[in-house]
Formats: sequence, C-alpha cells, structure tokens
Amino acid sequence: MDLPIDPSCVKGFLREDEGACLYRHARRAAQRGACAEIGTYCGKSALYIGTACRDSGSVLFAVDHHRGSEENQPGWDWHDPDLWDAEAGALDSLPSLRRTLRLAQLEETVIPVIGPSNVVSKAWQTPLSFLFIDGGHTMEHALNDYRGWVPHLALEGLLAIHDVFPDPADGGRPPFEIYQLALRSGGFEELEAVASLRVLRRISPS
Ligand code: SAH
Ligand code: MG
Repeated sequence: MDLPIDPSCVKGFLREDEGACLYRHARRAAQRGACAEIGTYCGKSALYIGTACRDSGSVLFAVDHHRGSEENQPGWDWHDPDLWDAEAGALDSLPSLRRTLRLAQLEETVIPVIGPSNVVSKAWQTPLSFLFIDGGHTMEHALNDYRGWVPHLALEGLLAIHDVFPDPADGGRPPFEIYQLALRSGGFEELEAVASLRVLRRISPS
C-alpha cells in the first residue's frame, strides 16, 4: 500500500490498521466495479479506499451531508470547532475533505456525493463491489444505511462496517446491530475483523 499522503495528517476516526485492512480488501473488490462509503468526514477512510480504487482503476463514491453526526455537534465529545461554518451556523467538513483529496491527488477517483444518506440511497442505481458503512451512529441512521445501501451490493461484493463494538462498554450498539443483521440474514460471511472494523462478503443475493 503506497498512500499518496500521510493519513495521520487527515482528521478522522480510523486507526491505521483498520485503514490498511480497508485498502487490502477494497483493492481486490474494486476490480469488479464501483465502491461507496457512507460517512466520509474529512476523508481519512476515503484516502485508504480511494487509493485502492486508484490502484484498481475504479472509483469511490463518498456519501456524506458533511454536517456531522450527533457526536460531532457543539458540546459533544467529538466536536471540532475548526470545522464550524459560522455563516451556516453548522458544521462543514466538506472543505477539509476537498483539501485531503487535492493533496492526495484523488480528485478523479473519489467522487463526493453531498446529501443525506437515505435520500441518496433511494435514487442510487449503480451496483457496488465494496460498501463501507461509517455514517450516523443512531439506530435510525445505521438501519437506514443498512437497508438503503446493502441492496446495491453486488453478489460477492464486500460490506465493511466501522465502530462495531460487541461490548456495549466500548461504544454505541447500532453498528454492531447492523453487523448482526447482516450475519443473521444468511447472505454474508465474515472475512476479517480489525479493531472495530468488520469485513463481510455477500454470498447470496439479498
Ligand atoms: N469515515 C470517516 C469518519 C466518518 S464520521 C473517517 O474515516 O474518518 C461520520 C460521518 O457521517 C460524518 O461526517 C457525518 O456528517 C456523516 N453522517 C452522519 N449521518 C449522516 C446521514 N444521515 N447522511 C449522510 N451523512 C451522514
Ligand atoms: Mg467510524
């Protein structure tokens, strides 16, 4: 893996070993078609998956409304005042994402799609070879992401989910719940687990 920029310079919530795992699986999966991630923030995961797409001649659609999740709002643990847009009175991580993509020379590989995940998923048509879910962490958002995006995953496509915490003491449950839904559906087998990242392969259609 030869990343164009140092991932530690990009704000975000992904460990280097998780990023390397994303790269490895996306590199292979992307040979079969387009990739998507739900929840991009400043582009840390997009740096790994986008580089994999670059190396495989594919593209990554990076879906995010860029207004931050609950935990990114003022007064919450993961709020970053540097990302505040005073005129909008709202968080805006898009300028930071654009900067990441420009520095990494990934502007022709990672295509930002700016809007609410459930609105975009309803209009989506392109089959996906690789899907990374790392968006809102409420049960509503996690379920929307699972139900809205997993149907677009091609057979043998890979589903990666971040922030899967089997022990509730380690973090919120919704990503773990959709991971369990995927496994219990019988449509997926687990390929790898690194920290809170899980990578599954679709083994049967829907
Ligand atoms: N993958 C990123 C981290 C994503 S953080 C990294 O590697 O660092 C979660 C992101 O999900 C936030 O940027 C937030 O704006 C976005 N998000 C939360 N709920 C969303 C929704 N319903 N639609 C679109 N984006 C959403
Ligand atoms: Mg995450």
